Amino acid sequence: MKKLTSLIACLLMAASVCSAQEKGSEPKTIKIDSNFYYIDDFSRQFFFIGTEKVLLVDTGFGKVDLAERIREYSDLPIEVVLTHGHVDHIGGLNQFGECYANEKDFSMIPEGINKKPLKDGDIIDIGNFVFDIIEIPGYTEGSIVLLEKNRKFIIAGDSVQEGPIFMFGDVSKFDAYIASMEKLDRYKKNIKTIYSAHNTLSYGPEYIKYCIEDARLFKAGKIVPFESEVMGKMRKTYKGKHVSFFAD
Ligand SMILES: [Zn+2]
Repeated sequence: MKKLTSLIACLLMAASVCSAQEKGSEPKTIKIDSNFYYIDDFSRQFFFIGTEKVLLVDTGFGKVDLAERIREYSDLPIEVVLTHGHVDHIGGLNQFGECYANEKDFSMIPEGINKKPLKDGDIIDIGNFVFDIIEIPGYTEGSIVLLEKNRKFIIAGDSVQEGPIFMFGDVSKFDAYIASMEKLDRYKKNIKTIYSAHNTLSYGPEYIKYCIEDARLFKAGKIVPFESEVMGKMRKTYKGKHVSFFAD
């Protein structure tokens, strides 16, 4: 089931990427702030130019030569960290050969990649950016966010956004997801902006509460799903007040 979930996510994303590529839209590097950029190949890859190294968060589908893009800004060593192990975040890993990730998602990372463990409370300090690692199991067991307390933002992967958030299969767990969002909400005084890998680029901190509220409505059976055909199979979308979930 884990493989099936990854495969469906991959195919869905790949379909989007293909249609974009047909239109000839090579993803651009976009500046958010000083030393803070992203590339969007239908899964955003954020990178930060530090004073000691460059931190790349996620590697997308691997359609872009990420090191070459980063080299336009810095020659410092590049460190890669994954928000989680889904296929649309690990596609460019072979360009680097190693990454930091939460151990619980190691099984999703291809063999041959040197996997370095990250856990709750770890800190990644690249000089001018300092990131706290917060584990938020639920979307995947090894999902993490990176919190930059001084600048008051998080890089949230896929876990906080309007969705649909892919919660089907046995990889995603709603109870753990709700508990993790409650945990993340306790950091809200340090969060002004949430950067997401999909859909809208950024959200306000209230989106953590929205994720909790709508996930609770889903769990309580209070959202009537609508069905649509995805890759030849009927699947359910649960559209809450602010956040929608794609679930079995
Ligand atoms: Zn994703």
